[in-house]
Amino acid sequence: MIRVDPHKCDGCGICVYDCGADVFRFTNKKDKVFPFGNKYCVNCFLCELVCPEDAIEVVLRPKKKKAAATAETDPSTNS
Ligand code: SF4
Ligand code: SF4
Repeated sequence: MIRVDPHKCDGCGICVYDCGADVFRFTNKKDKVFPFGNKYCVNCFLCELVCPEDAIEVVLRPKKKKAAATAETDPSTNS
């Protein structure tokens, strides 16, 4: 998941042109971007590296969080 801080983004477009997964779109005013295609992100972190304003954050979600939570509360796992 990608977060763009609108207070930092100056709309330079580097992330739009560098992201291979086509995640970013310009706003209507073309002065900022937003993560339109979050679901296509492959978490390569390139956008975080190239953004000169440090406006992008790649947020990784632990995939097994739900399974782990279930195991912790499932009484059948206690022996
Ligand atoms: S690289 Fe950073 S400052 Fe430039 S458009 Fe993307 S988020 Fe905004
Ligand atoms: S982490 Fe990679 S794939 Fe995801 S938005 Fe950034 S540049 Fe694109």
